Amino acid sequence: KQDELSLVQNRLPVWLEESKQLCDKGKVASYIPELAHAPRQALGIHLMDASGKSVSGGDCGLSFTMQSISKIFTLLLALMDNGEKAVFDKVGMEPTGDNFNSMLKLELVQPGIPFNPLINAGAIVISSLIAGGSTKEKADRTLQFFRTLANNDSLSVDKAVYESEAETADLNRSMAYFLKDNGVLEGDVNDVLDVYFRHCSIQVQCKDLARMALVLAFDGTDPITGVNLIPRRYVQIAKTFMVTCGMYNASGEFAIEVGLPAKSGVAGGILTMVPGRYGIGVVGPSLNAKGNSIAGVHLLETMSKEMDWSLF
Ligand code: GLN
Repeated sequence: KQDELSLVQNRLPVWLEESKQLCDKGKVASYIPELAHAPRQALGIHLMDASGKSVSGGDCGLSFTMQSISKIFTLLLALMDNGEKAVFDKVGMEPTGDNFNSMLKLELVQPGIPFNPLINAGAIVISSLIAGGSTKEKADRTLQFFRTLANNDSLSVDKAVYESEAETADLNRSMAYFLKDNGVLEGDVNDVLDVYFRHCSIQVQCKDLARMALVLAFDGTDPITGVNLIPRRYVQIAKTFMVTCGMYNASGEFAIEVGLPAKSGVAGGILTMVPGRYGIGVVGPSLNAKGNSIAGVHLLETMSKEMDWSLF
């Protein structure tokens, strides 16, 4: 709908201005030291339709790492590599209501499988399921998959963020060892974590997230090239997880206030979509208490309400 896109374009400066006021109320993530350098006042968005027409604004040119947003795409790759049965033998399908890095419930479901693939513990198990003869091959296949989805061959790992995360990941390491001991995580723990840190550190801009989201919005087919990249069933699974767990323990509120499948990351990115219509990428490094972009969530709430985009 071209007229809707023009309307979005006209309203966007006002929405951005209003949402930006919230940046001061949040905090940039610093538990991965390198992330602390991100600009706290930034807010940007890129929205793309099936013909490739885009609307973008604010700090949409900012580069940032995907962090947890990457977990959606490693899940998809693991499903394509192993099928549903093998993947869901190792991770569950339920939200936790806990923080993304919580290990509280790891002992609850026997034999200690993580509740879902979007919490850190679940995503680390997913990293262990990516096919490849070596750690390098697994990491390269993941990066290549992301490049194809974003239609951008220059995507790469931000080395400084990758090293910073690897150096400070004691909590993720402890969860990985626990999962290994339970027999849930197979392979060498450090190799699995290396694949995980690398995919979290892939650097993107809002336009890349918008294009990746567009593929999900069109059930696995890139509507611009017409190429099918992911089986529809797996996209259906991924989008369902985005609704139930994509915004961590704020997923219920996001479903009520925005009503779109979404996935956030601690670098401040949010990938979301209006299914069948738009792919959307947002960045705003200042986070709320639950680890989601404070201004980004507000921007999406405003847009979804004004444009009547909620699926529910
Ligand atoms: N790489 C981050 C971590 O493992 C991802 C977390 C996130 O984006 N919520 O802690």
